Amino acid sequence: MGYVLSSEGFSKALHELGGSYRLYAPVRKEGEGRFTDVDVVRYDFVHEAGEIELSTKSDYAFKEILTPLSETLFFFTEQSVKDADKDTSPVIIFVRSCDLHAVKRLDQIYLANGKAEDWFYRRIRDSVRFALIGCSESCENGFCVSMKTNRADEGYMFSVDEDGGKFYVDVKDDEAAKIFAAHAESSQPVTARYVTENDTDVNVPENVPNSIYKSDIWDEYTQRCINCGRCNFVCPTCTCYTMQDVYYTDNGRVGERRRVGASCMVDGYTNVAGGGQYRKTNGERMRFKVLHKVWDFRRRFGYDMCVGCGRCDDVCPEYISFANCVNKLDAAIKEAGNDE
Ligand code: SF4
Ligand code: SF4
Repeated sequence: MGYVLSSEGFSKALHELGGSYRLYAPVRKEGEGRFTDVDVVRYDFVHEAGEIELSTKSDYAFKEILTPLSETLFFFTEQSVKDADKDTSPVIIFVRSCDLHAVKRLDQIYLANGKAEDWFYRRIRDSVRFALIGCSESCENGFCVSMKTNRADEGYMFSVDEDGGKFYVDVKDDEAAKIFAAHAESSQPVTARYVTENDTDVNVPENVPNSIYKSDIWDEYTQRCINCGRCNFVCPTCTCYTMQDVYYTDNGRVGERRRVGASCMVDGYTNVAGGGQYRKTNGERMRFKVLHKVWDFRRRFGYDMCVGCGRCDDVCPEYISFANCVNKLDAAIKEAGNDE
């Protein structure tokens, strides 16, 4: 079911949906970016359609609502444990196609990577639905076409494309269809817009031989990367976390356990008991991150983890490009193959 709405009609429809759902969407925060007078686009709860940033890719991913950077899981005393309360009222998250594909990766890790689901993820995941923001042009640094995440045909309640002051929605949910129909100017078939080419093309290697672990392609990252971890924290598919027990009392018997986001690029991530550390150089960490995103995950689950959103390239203070690194990896594998 597709509908065309005026700006006012779209606002009314969202207002009505807002009576049943919290709306979580990219919002332009003026002057709150990394530098003076620079905006940042990040997720927040919205109440009006006008608050939603529909034209620019968010700098940070939507995932904070599903996997907060710091989340208290439970409280403990000597005698008892109590799960932390969580707002699980229904929510609609506005995402672009690449990020909708990222949801599948998060679900894979938290719900289908081992014998049991992650209970804390499941309880929030069950309250979440998605609205798809169409893409009329490729974003900077994105390579969704290479990763086959440029188009989403399912997994959303409704899509939204703004064009010439009109809002075009493709609705896949009966409840939402009634609301949009009530405020629409007309109905017609609508397909969410998607891009078919990006400025950045990435050649993802089909196979990665073990010999590539020792390749010198990783060495430049030992020099250039400052292991700040930003690339991980903006990534919609990074799922690593660590645990922190915070004690309220000196005797350490009352406190809370928090799940806190972790980064495979920062010092300490591979520390183990006895003082060991598996990946000491930044080049080794880059190798781990890249191969996890475009090889190890695929070997385990059948598809790549990276969705090509390009946020890691956008945010790196050292101008390190993940996309370039994958292309270097592919070239090195082909070169090695030709030498054999
Ligand atoms: S954002 Fe750049 S400098 Fe920071 S850890 Fe990632 S690759 Fe290294
Ligand atoms: S690795 Fe980079 S391009 Fe791939 S999903 Fe993560 S942030 Fe996006």
